[in-house]
Amino acid sequence: MKKLIIWTKSFLIFFICNIANIVLIFANDSTLCFDRPDPLKPYYLERVSCPMVTENETYSNLKRDTNMFNLTFICGINDQTLCKKVKSAFESAEKILSDTILFKQTVNVNATFTNICAAYGACNTVNSGIETQVIGGAAPSRVMMLRDDDGVNRFYPQSLVKQLGNTNHPKYSDYDINAIFNSENVSYWFKEDGNIKYNQIDMEMVILHELVHGLGFISSLNDYMNDPPKGLTPYVIGILNTTGTNYHFIEDMFDKLMSVVSTGQSVSDIVKQMDVFGDVQYVTPESFTITFESSPQYKLATDLFSKATIPNSLSLLSGDDTIILETSLTPYNYKSSIGHFSYQEYSNTSDFLMRYSVEHGVTLQQYVAMGGNYANGPIGPKLRAFLKSLGYTVRDSTSGTQIRISTIISKTKLIILSMLIISLMNFITSPCEINGFPL
Ligand SMILES: [Zn+2]
Repeated sequence: MKKLIIWTKSFLIFFICNIANIVLIFANDSTLCFDRPDPLKPYYLERVSCPMVTENETYSNLKRDTNMFNLTFICGINDQTLCKKVKSAFESAEKILSDTILFKQTVNVNATFTNICAAYGACNTVNSGIETQVIGGAAPSRVMMLRDDDGVNRFYPQSLVKQLGNTNHPKYSDYDINAIFNSENVSYWFKEDGNIKYNQIDMEMVILHELVHGLGFISSLNDYMNDPPKGLTPYVIGILNTTGTNYHFIEDMFDKLMSVVSTGQSVSDIVKQMDVFGDVQYVTPESFTITFESSPQYKLATDLFSKATIPNSLSLLSGDDTIILETSLTPYNYKSSIGHFSYQEYSNTSDFLMRYSVEHGVTLQQYVAMGGNYANGPIGPKLRAFLKSLGYTVRDSTSGTQIRISTIISKTKLIILSMLIISLMNFITSPCEINGFPL
């Protein structure tokens, strides 16, 4: 059986908000900002000071035909040839995104390529006899709470805040996206290598997937109170910000676009019903947890958790587009569940990129071909719609048509993919080690 690489959770979302209507929260001349120092730990956030600052320069023009990513690349290995290849793969992935999104300001990426088992203790693990390969991870390095056009406070990834073009804004972190990739025990393929081997994965595809997570394809839903998880909530202000005694649930922008398939109810609406504890002060996070878990509102969290492990339960709504999210993994996997396109639904389609797993032996261009040779390349029509709803300015598609299964796929390849899908079901039991990795 081929070994699959599980991409961890990273996140995406569609948005309907009109970015021009977004209002920064200026209370006390500052807003709430959290940094995510370790992209391998997507739910570990640290409160940071981000006083309002005023810039002299205005950023109002959308840049075209320019690589709008500014990469700081740390290569922690001695093989300089491999280092150059990885950097080149970054540039290719950045160009794809720069051709898709019209940015006003550069997106600063801090990426490291190193032995992450030795450096970060994120090593391969075996669960139920299945080995989970660590590839890497990426996420927004800072999120900022803004008041959205529907009056709800949500966390925006810094890279999106920069596109609003405000001269007044919370202080930015030096980097918009933190990313890390594993140099050991993974055989990467690069464009200049010739034919891909059966045991290789396309580095450019991994990077592209992770950068999309870093731009905001990430959900706040997680269990911040129990391990193993029992219920899902957005970020819990009061638990994250341990100096506070007021407890609120604050979602990511991604979550604004999420809905329950069976009822059509928005996750934002559920969170609003959940968020009734802010008027009471709790001495410790534990006392809040006890109160919340014995309240009627806790059923909202356990219901969400239940839906996260039932296929076709949660979706993203972006204009007329619906994206079925990954809710087939059992048990729930905090790095792969919810924050990805459904593997079952979008394999062999033009929206393959944000599935949680990637197969060995298939290049990014081969995935595009298998999805029907979408004219706009690897950023598929549903992902483009999501990025637009999130608030980015997305170029018009050359073609919005999504075609399933290209006739150029050989029968042999289809069979292999079918087998991989079956074997993937086994993988579902193994935890993704990378945020934004297992794709
Ligand atoms: Zn991912």
